[in-house]
Parts: sequence; structure tokens; C-alpha cells
Amino acid sequence: MRLYPLPLGELCCDKGKVLSPGAGDGVRTHIPIVGYLGVTKAGRRIVVDTGMHRRHVDDPDATWRGTDAVTELTPVMRVQDTVDYRLAELGLRGADITDVINTHFHFDHAGNNDAFPNATFHVQRSHYQAATDNPSFPNQYWRLPGLDYSLLDGEADLGDGLLVFPTPGHAPGHQSVALRLDSGQNMILCGDAIYEEDNLRYDTWGGHADPPQARQSAMALLERGRDLNAVVLYGHDAGQWQTVRKSPNWYE
Ligand SMILES: [Zn+2]
Repeated sequence: MRLYPLPLGELCCDKGKVLSPGAGDGVRTHIPIVGYLGVTKAGRRIVVDTGMHRRHVDDPDATWRGTDAVTELTPVMRVQDTVDYRLAELGLRGADITDVINTHFHFDHAGNNDAFPNATFHVQRSHYQAATDNPSFPNQYWRLPGLDYSLLDGEADLGDGLLVFPTPGHAPGHQSVALRLDSGQNMILCGDAIYEEDNLRYDTWGGHADPPQARQSAMALLERGRDLNAVVLYGHDAGQWQTVRKSPNWYE
């Protein structure tokens, strides 16, 4: 598989409040919003997380207007940061995508599910159920007629060196992704199981729905990473993201 990390804009937020309590309280920061495109030799095209909805380019408060979160979470998106634009740079359209993996349904991870009419969506059943009618997971972006959800119960081999495994704690039924590149190198895409290096450095997990469970999932993820000798890509780490090769470049 080839892997194209997709830059999908930024979120302006309080680092301590959102990511790492005790390590950045009161520090307003821009965190990267990230998706991935995997392309197999056989022609499968897999998107991992779909970013924030394209309406935020013109209307940053589109999702949270009228809620407490509107002062906490401010999307910063240009037209180039839409998933459609990133795929078009590679000569692809949303209709060409065969599979979508949502690590979870937060608005920065499932905002453009409507852009993939032909894909099978791979999500943990327990997450789908927890997110249904839950305003923390804006249902308008993912709970849509016509989207083909394949609901998973635990770890699942999706073929072509692609595996998803549960990492609950950030949210019920959150999942992370392990994949093997054509070179044989393994990669782990954390989603929000680990937001950033500071979660590990300061052992801070209070930014997650269930902190003890999030910590346990993160430790298990890291152990899996060591076993696979994998590169571990965090969910929203501005420093690490600077070092990552970005689409239209790729890893293989
Ligand atoms: Zn996130």
C-alpha cells in the first residue's frame, strides 16, 4: 500500500482543555486536522477519517454555533484543505473511494462522509451506537441515508495489510488503524487514541471521555507498535505533523 497523509485544515483550541490537561492550559494553539489515503496495487482506495465538513471554509462556526463549544473549537480551513481538493490533486474524486475507515465520528474525523457515495464505511458497532443521537458526534455529517456502513465488533482484518483495532477511551468504540506499506514498513494511525506526544510525556489523558481507559488503550497501541516496529502517527500533534510527508507526496 501507498499512504498519502492528507492535510485537512486546522482547529484553533486551548491545548490544555482539549488535548493535554496540565500541559498547555490556557495556551491557544492550532492543531492539524488529518486524514489519510491508502492506495493498493489492486486498486483499492481507502480513506481514513474524512476531516471537517467543507462548509467550514466559509463558516467556521457552522457546526458549533449556539453551543458552548463555539468558543472552544474554531476550524481554520481553506479550499485547499477540503478532502475533495486533496483527492483532486491526485486525480481522484470521492466516488472513486472504495473504503472509508472512521476512527470515530467527531466532527473533525467524519465531517465529509457524504463525499464518498460508493465506499464501504468501516466503524465499530459500539461507536456507531454510542454516537447515534449524541450531539458530541454531529449526526448530520455521518448518519446519512445511502452510506454503506459495515459495523465491526472488535479487531478486524480488512485485507491488503490493513487492520483496525479498538482503542476505546477517547470515545466508546474508538478504533485505530495498522497498515503495511509496499516496502514492508508498518504504520499505525492512532486517530485520537493518542492526540500528541505530550499525552505520553506528561501522562495526561483528561482530554478523553474515559481517561483511564484511554491510557490503557494508548499503552496497548504502543505495545502493538513496538511489536510491528511501526511508525506511530498521532492524531493532532503539530510538531510531529511538521515532519510527516504530505500528499501529493506519499510513503510506500
Ligand atoms: Zn480529533
